[in-house]
Amino acid sequence: MTRVGYRIALIPGDGIGAEVVPPAAAVLQAIGHRHGITFDFDEFDWSCQRYVHEGAMMPTDGIDTIRGHDAILLGAVGWQGVPDSISLWGLLIPLRRAFHQYVNLRPIMVFDGVRSPLTAAKDATRVDGVDFVIVRENVEGEYSEIGGRMNRGLASEQAIQTAVFTRPGISRVAEYAFGLAAGRRGRVTSATKSNGIVHTMPFWDEVVSEVAEDHPGVALRSEHIDALAAKIVLEPAAFDVIVASNLFGDVLSDLAAAVAGSIGIAPSGNLNPEREFPSMFEPVHGSAPDIAGRDLANPVGAIWSAAMMLEHLGHREAATEILDAVRALFVDGIRTRDIGGSAGTAEFTRELLKRID
Ligand code: ATP
Ligand code: MG
Repeated sequence: MTRVGYRIALIPGDGIGAEVVPPAAAVLQAIGHRHGITFDFDEFDWSCQRYVHEGAMMPTDGIDTIRGHDAILLGAVGWQGVPDSISLWGLLIPLRRAFHQYVNLRPIMVFDGVRSPLTAAKDATRVDGVDFVIVRENVEGEYSEIGGRMNRGLASEQAIQTAVFTRPGISRVAEYAFGLAAGRRGRVTSATKSNGIVHTMPFWDEVVSEVAEDHPGVALRSEHIDALAAKIVLEPAAFDVIVASNLFGDVLSDLAAAVAGSIGIAPSGNLNPEREFPSMFEPVHGSAPDIAGRDLANPVGAIWSAAMMLEHLGHREAATEILDAVRALFVDGIRTRDIGGSAGTAEFTRELLKRID
């Protein structure tokens, strides 16, 4: 077995973020032992707590400090009294941009034995076949700073916000989605709204279709965002890979995570597919101050994110073993409270580590 080693930047962050990152790091260590992979973890206190004490989420040379790391594992940032815009613009967006993390990846699966709105609607304990991935464009599109307010306070007041889509921006995220689908079930659904948004969305459709031509083995379907949202609720097993712009992808990924069950399970990756810069993996949930410090946090969102990190680094088999171990625990009834069990964060992590060893 060839031994490989990685340097991982850990940013536990605030609230339950700091409670779920250590379990995820422990799971990486354990799976690493079995596969000849070693991890060096460097921990950074970048957070809203730091902002409160030092006036900045991270030091000014923060980006350069972790530029050479192989990946970043983030817990969650956010705290009462600190506006979301501070954590977003003071940490998350600078990292995404500096490290060209132009793909936001959100896998969606419904695990057996986990309550979700779908199982409730069907009065079932399992829902088969829900296994899809949302590929969200992560750096351009609707979330631009171009625009402004005019005639403030007057009857003629206006606000204008400009969405910016570029050919390379659309083409590289579409390329990633098609590549991913080729290794899965070979289907890409592209989210559009070309009937209402008449400049950017037809352009999006055009570039996505061009990329599709280079991938004859993958089928492309474009669906309007409204119909697509409804279908995620009514027919979630129909999807394989969904590719969407920044705004549409943002909305669809929260919808899909809610449909799949607890927000405590959902993982995400901010990827630099070329691996020129570190990619960043984080659970979808926030700092959840209401349950912080009480051993109630479900660590699966962070653990699954760590598994995505392994897959990104080229260790798919090890990543799959982590998910299989989680699935087996769920089936055995070992779950945290948010998904209908009684285990605390510590107990769940202990049981998972036992299963991996
Ligand atoms: P933030 O301000 O950082 O976004 P938040 O209060 O919005 O934090 P979220 O993480 O978005 O919290 O979650 C909303 C609720 O879902 C939480 O208040 C919590 O009760 C529950 N929750 C979130 N994550 C988990 C988890 N990992 N385990 C258990 N429950 C969770
Ligand atoms: Mg929140």
